[in-house]
Amino acid sequence: MKCGVSQFSSELVDSIRECGGVFEVSPSCTVLLPKAFGFCIGVNRAVTMLNNVVTGLDEKRPIWLLGAMIHNPAVNEAFAKAGVQVSTNAEEVFDKASPHDIFVIPAFGLPLEQDRRLRKFVAEDGRIVDATCPFVGRVWMEAKQGGERGNAVIIHGKYGHQETYGIWSRAVSSAPACVLLSTVEEARRFAVDCHSLADERLFNAEKLARCDWTLLNQTTMLSTETAEIAEILQTAAWHRGKVNMAGTLCTATRERQAAAQELCTKGCDVIIVLGGTDSSNTTQLYRKAVERLGKERCFFVQSEQDLQTESVRHFQPFEQRWQSTSNEPILKAKRIGVLTGASCPDSELERLLRRLKELITIQR
Ligand code: SF4
Repeated sequence: MKCGVSQFSSELVDSIRECGGVFEVSPSCTVLLPKAFGFCIGVNRAVTMLNNVVTGLDEKRPIWLLGAMIHNPAVNEAFAKAGVQVSTNAEEVFDKASPHDIFVIPAFGLPLEQDRRLRKFVAEDGRIVDATCPFVGRVWMEAKQGGERGNAVIIHGKYGHQETYGIWSRAVSSAPACVLLSTVEEARRFAVDCHSLADERLFNAEKLARCDWTLLNQTTMLSTETAEIAEILQTAAWHRGKVNMAGTLCTATRERQAAAQELCTKGCDVIIVLGGTDSSNTTQLYRKAVERLGKERCFFVQSEQDLQTESVRHFQPFEQRWQSTSNEPILKAKRIGVLTGASCPDSELERLLRRLKELITIQR
């Protein structure tokens, strides 16, 4: 089976985009889409690069993808079906692969050690396709430059996220000290006592008090939250240096967060957020929606299959659990806002819209 970039596009969604993001589901129900949605530039680039490998002349050589290409199960599954071997376990890849194979680095990049190891492992006639998003590369550069200036690097990023590992690995290779903060609450505790954080979030904590700090963020965090963390860090009485903010959110994240904010002011009865549950930028869109409409009116789903005849299966990212509730708020809504993350293909959005239409038409 071949995988093509076009399989992730949608004529229906293109036409809705051209009409200002409004889709009539029924005479009494309208879906509103934000001004910015769909694949971002980095995801589009990564998917196109992998697609070129899969459909290119090299297709007979095994293709190894070191981690999920992007955080969207539909896209990752499509590539797996096309024969790409996906593994988040680098050791396993180095055990099983031949140095003459093709290795694809996903949009989030690789931790420094893995990256170095891969480059040594691959033979001259092997190939590395590096799909790391340039915005991720910019964060690495800020971490390196901050470290080289003698600054401690403070990362605002999601713990356990592939991109955060990559940033951390580069920060600790050049900075005198390093900290990972995932939430405002953690920043508050850290500002009072740096040892309130778990050890794996601290590198050379004893050097923190004497250095200037460079605060940078994973590309997909909530911009307002990073600004809040910057203010909190200024209050750390035990710190004798300055705090500099690098501002490394990517353009797509800024645009999508602003567009989501705007959509949430348009009088929607409910908001559906569509995307991978491990996607950081999608989670931030959900948070924006919940801030405005409350949890009872916001539903984070991974595919149209989560919209069932009588219930909706939705993910609670704060508690990291799925739950099922009645789909009545959705079926009775006059205005439904739909937000999709930067890694959600238009084809998935089309499926969701068609499912909504089907359910609402049956019910009314
Ligand atoms: S969300 Fe931003 S950093 Fe991530 S792939 Fe897209 S453009 Fe790159």
